[in-house]
Amino acid sequence: MDDFKLLRMGHPLLRKKVPLIKDISAVKNLALNMKHLITLEPWSGVAAPQLGHALRMVAFQLTEAVGERKNEVSHPPRILINPVLTPLTDETKEDWEACLSLPDLMGLVRRPTKIRVQGCDETGAEINEVAEGHYARIIQHECDHLDGILYVDRMTDMTKLIYRSEYPLWLEAFQKAS
Ligand code: ZN
Repeated sequence: MDDFKLLRMGHPLLRKKVPLIKDISAVKNLALNMKHLITLEPWSGVAAPQLGHALRMVAFQLTEAVGERKNEVSHPPRILINPVLTPLTDETKEDWEACLSLPDLMGLVRRPTKIRVQGCDETGAEINEVAEGHYARIIQHECDHLDGILYVDRMTDMTKLIYRSEYPLWLEAFQKAS
């Protein structure tokens, strides 16, 4: 994927509920490109609408197992088509999220900590598994894009929407206080 364009907040496609994929073979190349792209950059994930495609397909991975997440297992890049996510717990957790469509920003978002993930991959093989922790967060964030939802829509306290560059200052001022 040499020339890709990332859509940014404000583009109508990022606010659209995009349709199911009926013919997986027709999106196989795009799937491979998306998987390659997240490896190259490297990104936690990308959703097809962010690349201008009105298709229910996301790519994601979990690479960084550092700091608070050092106990998390890393997960290789993969594709999820026509996803159905179901929360498996009432437990939720707040954590920072960022998005390629809202450059330089990050925000605290509360999400379920454990979900069932159903759908299929780019070969048509069925996916039906449980995801937890930060991995579950990444998958929920990417799949939200397929329904026109951005992480800022999930935020309840907009004072916690900040620029990445100010994060150290934010931490120092507010984390210590709490
Ligand atoms: Zn995003």
